[in-house]
Amino acid sequence: MKILINGIQSNLRFSSAHIIPGHDSCGFIHGHSYFVDIEIEGERAGDFEFVVDFKDIKSYARAICDELDHRLLIPVYNDLIEFKDFDKNKGSIFDLKNNKSVYFKIQDKGYSIPSVDCIFLPLPFTSAEELSKFFAETLAKKLSEDYDNLEYVAVCVNEGIGQGAMYRKDL
Ligand SMILES: [Zn+2]
Repeated sequence: MKILINGIQSNLRFSSAHIIPGHDSCGFIHGHSYFVDIEIEGERAGDFEFVVDFKDIKSYARAICDELDHRLLIPVYNDLIEFKDFDKNKGSIFDLKNNKSVYFKIQDKGYSIPSVDCIFLPLPFTSAEELSKFFAETLAKKLSEDYDNLEYVAVCVNEGIGQGAMYRKDL
């Protein structure tokens, strides 16, 4: 059986800024009011014959949304982002977070931003495609600690109403 969570109606939303380095129009810092739809398929199981408890999915998904909300999303493994004093091949993302400010270049543009204003993600892009993969994999990992009856977790990250990307993580 399949269960569905509607991100707008369940308040799984976040408003964040991002950049798609090198892109004509999305290469400038801009923002979206994102919302996250979730689809999970699995066998019904346990005392209540649930596929999965809605409360669990919503609390895990909301925690991710809260972490990203009102921040600039930085894709640490983007090829065009060059950090000052940080080697992305050797350093830990926690090092970036622990510095007071972060300095980086994208082609001929230089940025200096307080680290607390940023979320550093282990991704090549902060596109809807990569964010949906990040959400689906994180949620699947968390849910599989408590559930062994799930077939897949699919997440659609919408960049506002009308456009989103869906990623399905099989379990
Ligand atoms: Zn965008």
